[in-house]
Amino acid sequence: MAEIIKAVILNGAVGVTVIKSTDIVSKAVKLHGLSNTAAAALGRMLTATAVIGCNLKGKNDSVTVNIRGEGPLGALVTACDSKGNVRGYVENPQVELPLKPNGKLDVSGGVGIPGRMSVVKDLGLKDPFVAQLPLVSGEIAEDFTQYFYQSEQQACAVALGVMMGSNGKCLGAGGIVVQILPFCREEDIKTTEEIVSRLTQVSSDFKTHTAEEVLLQYFGEAQLEILEHKEARFKCKCSKRVADRVLSTLSASEAYELLEERGSIEVGCQFCGKQYVYDKPALDRLKEKGVIREKKAE
Ligand SMILES: [Zn+2]
Repeated sequence: MAEIIKAVILNGAVGVTVIKSTDIVSKAVKLHGLSNTAAAALGRMLTATAVIGCNLKGKNDSVTVNIRGEGPLGALVTACDSKGNVRGYVENPQVELPLKPNGKLDVSGGVGIPGRMSVVKDLGLKDPFVAQLPLVSGEIAEDFTQYFYQSEQQACAVALGVMMGSNGKCLGAGGIVVQILPFCREEDIKTTEEIVSRLTQVSSDFKTHTAEEVLLQYFGEAQLEILEHKEARFKCKCSKRVADRVLSTLSASEAYELLEERGSIEVGCQFCGKQYVYDKPALDRLKEKGVIREKKAE
C-alpha cells in the first residue's frame, strides 16, 4: 500500500502532496521484470500518476498518461482511478543503460527526447480532457511539472525518486508535488523555493522514512497543516470480461481458425502481464453467449 498525504503550508498558500510509492514500484518491477532504468522511469510515472489520480473527484474518474520519446524504453503508459488503483507498463522493460556520471539511473536516456507526453482525464463527460505536451527532458519529474503548470496554471515543483538495489529490487520510491496556490504572497513563494531547492535526494528519503516523516522533514517548519491521508496501490483493472471483449473483435470463424492454428488463444494484458487463455470449450461458450458471432462485432 502506498501512502499519500495532502497538506498545505504557509497558511494555506501552498499545496503539498507527498506519496511514498515503494510498494507500487516493487509490484511493477515484479510483474514486468523491469530493469533498473525501466523501473526508475515507470516508477516515477506511476508515482506522479497516483498523485493525479488521488485528486480526481468522481467515483469513476480516471487518468491515463502516455509518454513516448525516441529512447530505447519505447512507450510508457500509466493509469490511475480516483480510488488509487494505479497500473502501468513500459514497451521495452528490460532495457538497461549505464549510470549517468553523477551515479543516477539514466531515465532521460531511456525515454529519449524529443518526445511527447499525453495526459487523458476521463471525468465521465462526453469528451475526455486531453493534454498533449512535448517532453521537457524525459526525466519524468520535469515533464509532470510542465503538465501541472499548463493544466492548472499554477507554478509547481515535482520531485520524484526511485532507488533500486543491486539485486534489482526497489529500495525506496516516492514523490513530492508542491503547488503555489492563487494569491500566494511573494515572501511565501520565496520560502517555498528555498524548501524546493532541498528536494534533491527524495529516493533515499523514502528508503528510510514514511510519507509523514518526509513531509515533516521538509515542511514541518512552514506552518504545515495536514488535510488528508489517502492510499494507492498497483492494481490492474483487467478481467475475463475485458479479455472476452477483445476476442469479440474477431468473427467466430476467425476465432476458430486461430484456435486451430495455435492450439489455444491467449489474450494478454499489457498493464499486468496476465494471460487469459481460451481453449475450444471456452470459445464454444463465448459463441453460445453471443460474445463472438459469425459476423464481427461493429
Ligand atoms: Zn491486467
